[in-house]
Amino acid sequence: MVSAASSVAAGSTEPCDRCGAAAKLALVLASGRQLTFCGHHANGYTETILATAESVFLEPGFEWRGAQVESDYIGAHRADAYAW
Ligand SMILES: [Zn+2]
Repeated sequence: MVSAASSVAAGSTEPCDRCGAAAKLALVLASGRQLTFCGHHANGYTETILATAESVFLEPGFEWRGAQVESDYIGAHRADAYAW
């Protein structure tokens, strides 16, 4: 888990996969594929991210809408939020 967080942190300057803006959130899918989203798209895809991500990494200071979701909902979807 620590190594996974470190590898994502190293790529935290990647652009959003949708619009190319600076990424505020990175996630790892069950397949191992990583995706990055800017704040706008991270919030826009909150439900999808919670439903599909194995792990979610947030840039410090970024208030992701998904982080406000009930913890039992996140647990049911196997997604955990970690700070970069
Ligand atoms: Zn974007």
